[in-house]
Amino acid sequence: MAKKATKLEIQAIKKLFLENYPDSVTELNYTNAYELLIAVMLSAQCTDKRVNLITPKLFSAYPTVFDLAKANLDDVKTFINTCSFFNNKAKNLITMANQIIDNYGGKIPLTQKELVKLAGVGQKTANVVMLEYTGANLMAVDTHVFRVAHRLGLSNAKTAIKTEEELVKKFKTDLHRLHQAMVLFGRYRCKAINPLCEDCFLKSYCKSKERFKV
Ligand code: SF4
Repeated sequence: MAKKATKLEIQAIKKLFLENYPDSVTELNYTNAYELLIAVMLSAQCTDKRVNLITPKLFSAYPTVFDLAKANLDDVKTFINTCSFFNNKAKNLITMANQIIDNYGGKIPLTQKELVKLAGVGQKTANVVMLEYTGANLMAVDTHVFRVAHRLGLSNAKTAIKTEEELVKKFKTDLHRLHQAMVLFGRYRCKAINPLCEDCFLKSYCKSKERFKV
């Protein structure tokens, strides 16, 4: 278990993340809330790169929630079959589109409470949509955020939800920017295997660097 970061260290880590990733946004491609919601749903257990390969054809076949609501399930499966769990995701996409028409007149609801009621949308997906699209002060913990939080001693929690709670409590503000920063930092620098510790701007605060012989 990594040592816990002190209050002073937490403030320093937060400052460094915000300085090093001032304007970070998701790497998922989208042009509106409908496309973002679909892209985030597809990205569960799947890389953003793969999602970005899938979505252009999917969005062009179903440009609105109304088109997706009446889509043929097998057709949707074919569009997304290179994505993990595509059978379930295809079903959820069509159900989600129908729920949005039935309950919100076809407009994507932009509150966390409403988003999590949609098929295939859990807390992480809802938070990512909200923080990316509206800049809401929310944290979402994916595999990168989880790993980075643990390596820096920001959390020792076993689950993503508990880790999210701890990050919210510790960082308090700028959560949307910190989420994006931690995703990019984890994806390209503090990687699962062979992290780039040598010139890491957080090296002096890291509780795990010994493991990587820095
Ligand atoms: S020193 Fe290495 S393990 Fe620690 S935060 Fe930086 S990249 Fe990650």
